[in-house]
Amino acid sequence: MNQTKTIEKDFQRQKSGYIHSVESCGTVDGPGIRFVIFTQGCPLRCLYCHNPDCRHLEDGKLITVEQLIREIKKYTSYFKSSGGGITITGGEPLMQPEFVQEICQRCQEMGIHTTLDTSGYVQLKVAKQVLDFVDLVLLDIKSFDPKIYHDVTSVSIEPTLEFAKYLKEIKKPAWIRFVLVPNLTDPIPNIQALAQFISTLDNVEKVEVLPFHQMGKYKWEQLGYDYQLKDTNPPSPELIEAVKNIFKSYGLETQ
Ligand code: SF4
Repeated sequence: MNQTKTIEKDFQRQKSGYIHSVESCGTVDGPGIRFVIFTQGCPLRCLYCHNPDCRHLEDGKLITVEQLIREIKKYTSYFKSSGGGITITGGEPLMQPEFVQEICQRCQEMGIHTTLDTSGYVQLKVAKQVLDFVDLVLLDIKSFDPKIYHDVTSVSIEPTLEFAKYLKEIKKPAWIRFVLVPNLTDPIPNIQALAQFISTLDNVEKVEVLPFHQMGKYKWEQLGYDYQLKDTNPPSPELIEAVKNIFKSYGLETQ
């Protein structure tokens, strides 16, 4: 292959990435009305994942940043009227840092608010280049107890804690997301320790307690994966309230 073709191929690779799907008018992943991009590929194996079909990069649809930007532009009036923007989620978006950076950079240049939803399980040097173009981070901390974290995700909690501390250091606005799963993530000491840790991060604007649900169950079955939470019920309203009160007792705004 000659040098020009190699450069062209590299350029093309940087400007495209694998996605699972998009949602044009999302309302639950950041402020206002949002264009949500679900990227493909994730290094975690969360027991409660409702997008298990996002696991492998190569199962996604290859799309260029240009194609996405053309779609995003159609919704700018919705973003303006609602205080919304774009959200990149997954999967784990930071598995494709150049792709995600390019989308965020292009959006910021158009005055569109950018949100990144991530597990923080990534090398900091990889994340840094992307975070420069992100207005808000939704950081999923799946547990504070390292054993529970590993039981839930199959990976170590350390990179996520480092990521959280780095967000504080650079004063990046962040919302923390915690999925409440009965008999898994709900031990009180685990939640108290998580709340205590978050209370040291003055960049965090709020904590979202997300109740576990069974909406992804059919996908696990279709894919032939072993779904270990098939007999787990969603948390009761009383448990959700009690957990929210723990976060509030540490001075955290909680939703
Ligand atoms: S980080 Fe998200 S996409 Fe990845 S396995 Fe966990 S819940 Fe699923």
